[in-house]
Amino acid sequence: MQKLSQRQLFLQYVAQTSEIPMGLEISHAEGIYQYNTQGKAYMDLISGISVSNLGHNHPKVKEAIIHQLNKHSYSMVYGEFIQSPQVELARLLSSVLPAGLDNVFFVNSGSEAVEGALKLAKRYTGRSEIIAFKNAYHGSSHGSLSLLSNKEYTRKFRPLLPDVKHLSFNSTEGLDQISERTACVIIEIVQGEGGVQVASPEFLQQLRNKCRETGTLLIFDEIQTAMGRTGKMFAFEHYGIMPDILLLAKAFGGGMPLGAFVASKEIMYCLTHNPVLGHISTFGGHPVSCAAALANLQVLKESNLIEQVEEKGRLLENLLKHPKIKEIRRKGLMMAVDLGDFDLVLDVIHKAMDKGLILDWFLWNNQSIRIAPPLIITHEEIKKAAGILLDILADSKI
Ligand code: PMP
Repeated sequence: MQKLSQRQLFLQYVAQTSEIPMGLEISHAEGIYQYNTQGKAYMDLISGISVSNLGHNHPKVKEAIIHQLNKHSYSMVYGEFIQSPQVELARLLSSVLPAGLDNVFFVNSGSEAVEGALKLAKRYTGRSEIIAFKNAYHGSSHGSLSLLSNKEYTRKFRPLLPDVKHLSFNSTEGLDQISERTACVIIEIVQGEGGVQVASPEFLQQLRNKCRETGTLLIFDEIQTAMGRTGKMFAFEHYGIMPDILLLAKAFGGGMPLGAFVASKEIMYCLTHNPVLGHISTFGGHPVSCAAALANLQVLKESNLIEQVEEKGRLLENLLKHPKIKEIRRKGLMMAVDLGDFDLVLDVIHKAMDKGLILDWFLWNNQSIRIAPPLIITHEEIKKAAGILLDILADSKI
């Protein structure tokens, strides 16, 4: 029998989510580079979509994983047994969050953090209405999918959650729709898949006020923005406005699968009774993931990486001057380079891949290129990446 290549086996046996997978055949990764099976280096300018904030295989994270594996791997995780990686992580996380965000429910992923938070808000308030914003992305499970306004992505999966409303992002006009019926409002302070749309301070303050007035829980989905991505540990620190529930995943796990919803002990308490086990997860808060997340958080807290994020982002933005670039939207090292044309975006992404740069576009904005490099990227590497991008733009016939 003819031996099939890894690529052929991939196409045959691994479920595909598009007709045209990128198909980069990964052999190993270190720092900001991923290597294919021929040994070619690719600069990862998207961090696996805001996951690898410390780069790939950070030595401290790797060491923590091995250390934990040598002690124990899986053990029942959802609050029955006491496991030091969970306890230490929850304590350290609380120490970098304001009072009132000091009780952590560990889950597996971003979507599950969203699910847990929606359930918590319904249970705590006894209400059913959920409000989200247009062009947000909150995940791919049924509940989180219900929050998406983009019908093309949801139509075929109906019926979804009832009693969900979508308001316009950054518009204070719709906020009067939040009422005593509303269990929660969920928002990304910087919309990721919307193509880096940054909430205005006035809008966020009015949203906070309205939620307080109506007894509605305010949920910040910081799954893409937390862990230093925007130049603060959490994006809400730029505004001095606190949520009732904070959602984390992606970079939170230091490269391992981990998510969390964080609230006050008083709010979270309602998951313990009526019914008992208000949210359960077999793997959420896996000790190896928590050990990795703990090391990741320690490095972010103790190093000056986050302080350098704004300067690095500005350097890249200033270098990217070209007539084909219509606009750059940015918060720290979360950047959308708007080219105003999907064909040009595709052309640049493909050519960048040939030249060893990993880029991407956004789910709800295909006119812009996504740039979200690991925070450890150096000034030299930023200059190199910008140079390659500018050459590609100059060469492109589109
Ligand atoms: N919320 C936001 C803001 C996200 O960016 C994502 C993932 N792109 C999710 C939720 C869902 O996370 P996951 O893919 O881990 O379920």
